[in-house]
Amino acid sequence: MTGAPVRRDGPAIALRTLKERSRSGRRAWSLPELDVPGADVSDAHRRRQTADLPEVSETDIVRHFTRLSQINYGVDTGFYPLGSCSMKYNPKVAETVAALAGFQRLHPHQPEETLQGALELLWRLERALCEITGMARATFQPPAGASGELTGLMIMRAFHTKNGNPRTKIIIPDSAHGTNPASVTLSGYRAVQVPSDRRGLVDLAALQGLVDGDVAGLMLTNPNTLGLFEEEIEGVAAAMHRVGALLYYDGANLNAIMGRARPGDMGFDIVHMNTHKTFATPHGGGGPGAGPVAVSARLEPFLPTPVVGFDEESGRYFWDHDRPDSIGRVHGFNGNFGVLVRAFAYVFGHGRDGLREVGERAVLNANYLARRVNDAYPLAFPGQPMHEFVATARSFRKYGVRAMDIAKRLIDLGFHPSTVYFPLIVEEAMMVEPTETESKETLDAFAEAMLQAAKEAEEHPDLLHDAPLTTPVRRLDEARAARQPKLRW
Ligand SMILES: *Cc1c(COP(=O)(O)O)cnc(C)c1O
Repeated sequence: MTGAPVRRDGPAIALRTLKERSRSGRRAWSLPELDVPGADVSDAHRRRQTADLPEVSETDIVRHFTRLSQINYGVDTGFYPLGSCSMKYNPKVAETVAALAGFQRLHPHQPEETLQGALELLWRLERALCEITGMARATFQPPAGASGELTGLMIMRAFHTKNGNPRTKIIIPDSAHGTNPASVTLSGYRAVQVPSDRRGLVDLAALQGLVDGDVAGLMLTNPNTLGLFEEEIEGVAAAMHRVGALLYYDGANLNAIMGRARPGDMGFDIVHMNTHKTFATPHGGGGPGAGPVAVSARLEPFLPTPVVGFDEESGRYFWDHDRPDSIGRVHGFNGNFGVLVRAFAYVFGHGRDGLREVGERAVLNANYLARRVNDAYPLAFPGQPMHEFVATARSFRKYGVRAMDIAKRLIDLGFHPSTVYFPLIVEEAMMVEPTETESKETLDAFAEAMLQAAKEAEEHPDLLHDAPLTTPVRRLDEARAARQPKLRW
C-alpha cells in the first residue's frame, strides 16, 4: 500500500525524549587527551552548576531524530488526499532549480544590474501567469493565497475610490473558503453571503436580489469549493457588471481548468493564484507559499509597487516604482522569491500542453475515485466534480459514526485522511482531492481503505471511535490542542 505506515517501535519508545534516554556519563563524542597548555577561564565565566543536558550516545541521537522524522507524514511518504489544498507531489527538479546559487544567494538590496536574471525570471513568469488567467499584469508580493485575497480587495477598494465611491459590501457564496470572509473583513468591507442552490452552485436569482450600487464586488472560486464548475458564470458576471461591481477569482482551484478556461474570459478582473497548490512547492504547516495576484488592464495602475519593468531600448529589467495610483507595498521585499523560482520551473517545465494535461488528469483522478467510493460515500451534490469531490458520510450516523471517525480510521489504514467538515454547507462532509500525480494503484488502495472503513462503521463502530490506534498520540481534543498547545514535556 502506498501510504503504508512507518515502522514504529510502539508509542512508548517513539515518544521517549532525549532526556528520558539520558544515562549519566554516556557521550556521543570523544576527544583526544589534551596535549596543549590549558587556557584559564576566569571564575566569572565559569558555570556554578553543570548544564542539565541529556547524556546520550550518537545512536541515541540519530535514532531519536530519525524516528521523529518518520512520525511525520508528507507527500513524499504517502498519499495525501486533503481537499481544497492540492497536496500534489512536487517535482524535485523545481527544488534543484531553486537551490542554484545564482538564485539562492541573491540579496534583495543588490543593485538592479546584478539582478537581471532574477528580474527576467519574474517578468517571464508574470507573462505566463497572465496568459494562463487571461489577465494583463500581476504582482508577486503576497506570500500566500489569503494575503493575495487581501491585496486583491485593496486593489478593488482603490479602483472604486478612484471612481468616487469605495462602496461597502462584497458578496461571497456560502460555500467559500474561510479566508474569503476574513479577507473581506480585514479590508474594511462587509461580507454578504449568497446561498448555493440545489445543485451546489451560486443561486443566481438570490444573487440578483443582493446586487445594488453598494456592492464593490463578488469573490468566487471556480470550480467552487464543492469541486463543481459554476455553469452560470456568465450570468453571475453580468449581474455584477450591471452595477459596476468587480469580480474576484479565488484561484486556489485553478489546477482544474488551466489550459482549458481562463478567469479573464469569464469576466473576472482580479485573480489570485496559490503557486504552492497549482505550480509546485511543497506546503502545509504554514508555508512558505506565494499568492501572486493578476489583474485586468483597468486595475493595473493599482497593483502594489514596485512591479518589474522592462526597457525595450536597453534590454534591461528594472524595479518600476513610479506608480502614483498603487496601493503601495503589501510585503517586505518582493515576495517569496524561492517559491516563485519553483513555480517558474514547473510552468515552463510542463509547457502549455503539459499544464493542460495536469488539469485533465487531476479531474480524471477525482472522478475515478468518486465513482469507486460512491456507494458508501455518495456525492453531496449531483453534478460532475472537477479536480476534487465532496461526499457525505451522513449515512453512518445511524451507527453512531461520524466523518471524523472515518478520517481517524483512515490513519490506521495507512492514509492521510481527506478534508472533513468543509465546505460547511455539507453535512458530514468528506472532501477528497487526489491530484494528478497519483497512480491508479494508489487511488485503488485508498478507495479500498475508505470502503473498509465504511464496512467497519456498520460492523464494529467502536473500532472507529477508538481510532487511531497506531499513532504515538491518539485522538486529541482538536479545539484544545489548537488553543492550548502542549509544546514541551
Ligand atoms: C487554500 C485556499 C485559500 C487560502 O490560500 P492560502 O495560500 O492557504 O492562504 C483560499 N481559498 C481557497 C478556495 C483555498 O483552497
